Amino acid sequence: MSDDDSPMTDMTVLVEYRPLDGEPREIRVTGEQLHARACIVGSSCSGDVLVDAGHVHTTTGERSAPLGWAVVAHPECLADES
Ligand SMILES: [Zn+2]
Repeated sequence: MSDDDSPMTDMTVLVEYRPLDGEPREIRVTGEQLHARACIVGSSCSGDVLVDAGHVHTTTGERSAPLGWAVVAHPECLADES
């Protein structure tokens, strides 16, 4: 259970996260995470290197298709995931 690790970020979106390796799951992400400018896994981790971490899919409304976003993460964070 790790869906409550970012209590005070300004705005989060509920998305379906599809990791490169693992089960899809619903998580909340910030705009920074959505635009691949911040690690998708953690909100308080840090590191210089961000690598491809799969995609998240946002649903934008009843009549629109989900949007896919390429996201990034720290290699160490991805290792912790699995
Ligand atoms: Zn990280």
